Amino acid sequence: MPYLILSDVHSNREALEAVVRDARGLYDQILCLGDIVGYGADPNFTAEWMCTHSVTSIRGNHDKLCVGLDAPEVYNAAARASAVWTRQALAPANAAYLSNLPRGPLRVGDFDLVHGSPADEDEYVIHAGDAAMVRDLLDASVTFFGHTHVQGGFLYARRAIKRIAPEGGVLELEPDYRYLLNPGSVGQPRDMNPKAAYAIYTPENRTVEFRRAKYDIAMAAQKILDAGLPNVLAVRLYEGA
Ligand code: ZN
Repeated sequence: MPYLILSDVHSNREALEAVVRDARGLYDQILCLGDIVGYGADPNFTAEWMCTHSVTSIRGNHDKLCVGLDAPEVYNAAARASAVWTRQALAPANAAYLSNLPRGPLRVGDFDLVHGSPADEDEYVIHAGDAAMVRDLLDASVTFFGHTHVQGGFLYARRAIKRIAPEGGVLELEPDYRYLLNPGSVGQPRDMNPKAAYAIYTPENRTVEFRRAKYDIAMAAQKILDAGLPNVLAVRLYEGA
């Protein structure tokens, strides 16, 4: 059964809707790697959407931060401001939904979901060196992660770790390797491509398709400005950085 894999939606309604349109007919079940809220202006829409579509989701660091389960001191000013705004904007039912999201790793079928890394939901796996540090913690042959907002991930061969550049579209998984794969961020891409990122994983075919969907960035950015959120959160949507 094909899975639609979402991560880092970050209260971006326009991006989420564009991804769902783009992925229509390609999947049976929806999974999410966390950071449903934070940064964007539609936290109630994205949280409620996950709930009403019975998405299997783990929590991200911003989900924790925005419901008061994480200390704001370690975050930058824009993230702190958005967390304060999101916390007062969230309807009680949506705040409760986010508070109850499980912490990863979460096993689905024979693969795992994590937000940051298998050891720490707040850890960034950016470089091959970071990927090497978590190698022994990978329980499944395929683990999906988010948090970096960079689509792609890593392939673990016996003696080497290779970075996966998602330009090729469909990745065919080799049986002898392990994979740590990132669908990219739906709502705030940081890999210099502003289009909303996601993946379709089909375990039966051993394929992961990395996809991008064009969305109405101007609308999402304007809502951020109208909400009085920091400018930088609107500008970076155009840059994909
Ligand atoms: Zn995030």
